[in-house]
Amino acid sequence: MLLFKKVSDIKKYLSEKRAQNLTIGFTPTMGALHNGHVSLINYSKEQTDISVCSIFVNPTQFDDKKDLEKYPRTTGSDIDLLTEKGTDILFLPSVDEIYPSGENKAHGFTFGNMADHMEGAHRQGHFDGMASVVKRLLEIVEPDFIYMGQKDYQQQALVKKMLEQMDLTTKLVRCPIVREPDGLAMSSRNVRLKPEERKLATLISKTLFKAKEEAATLSLKEVKANAIKRLSIPEFSVDYLEIVDADTLYPIDNFDDATAVVACTTVRVGAIRLLDNIILKD
Ligand code: AMP
Repeated sequence: MLLFKKVSDIKKYLSEKRAQNLTIGFTPTMGALHNGHVSLINYSKEQTDISVCSIFVNPTQFDDKKDLEKYPRTTGSDIDLLTEKGTDILFLPSVDEIYPSGENKAHGFTFGNMADHMEGAHRQGHFDGMASVVKRLLEIVEPDFIYMGQKDYQQQALVKKMLEQMDLTTKLVRCPIVREPDGLAMSSRNVRLKPEERKLATLISKTLFKAKEEAATLSLKEVKANAIKRLSIPEFSVDYLEIVDADTLYPIDNFDDATAVVACTTVRVGAIRLLDNIILKD
């Protein structure tokens, strides 16, 4: 695996590869890698000639500076894992390389209402920070495909929207959620759960699986109400549970109001925010 830290170096290397008609797959991450990340890299390896992974803990997308400080950083073992999985390139830039003229959040994309609710309503400035860094990374790597997880449903929908507004031919590949054997969606933040919280956290995916089952017979209003009721235990604080049009992300009440439907939730378990979702109709 080749490791690049400088924008100019990786750009030069990739432009040579592009000139040889080799295709580039890109998986942006914030490190603390787990099998969810590995699955994205595997898709990239299967579908393109050169798999590029980036690790950059983006300060501008953290509304909570404590969360940024505590975000797990495991660069040494991440490099070992990426090498073992056959990743071709790791891009590991500093904050100055990504934001040479300061942490500017003016990305210039139009998201309409897509960024206003769910994560957008609960994390001030999060999607502006996300859009800035993804824009910068896309302009550096210029990939043929960008691999993003369904796990962060709203994020990948917004990146799809960004790509429509950018002068790039990059296509987004949405990759399925990788779960622990007990159903908990894999996340870099899971290691911060206390043992008791870790056990309780399985209720989130169980609730979503049950919602999918109920969606076959009940109205979406009932499905949503039941799911919120199941998550209403004293140890949890539900930031939101929304059933939305999978493309516009608008909340809907009836299955027939959208061609694809997804139920998204974020639950705080102790100090940790856990995101999960399930596609109810595709
Ligand atoms: P992060 O490092 O958390 O920013 O995530 C980097 C990418 O990995 C994002 O596109 C995430 O959606 C994706 N990802 C994170 N967890 C999972 C998971 N459990 N399954 C699939 N993809 C994931």
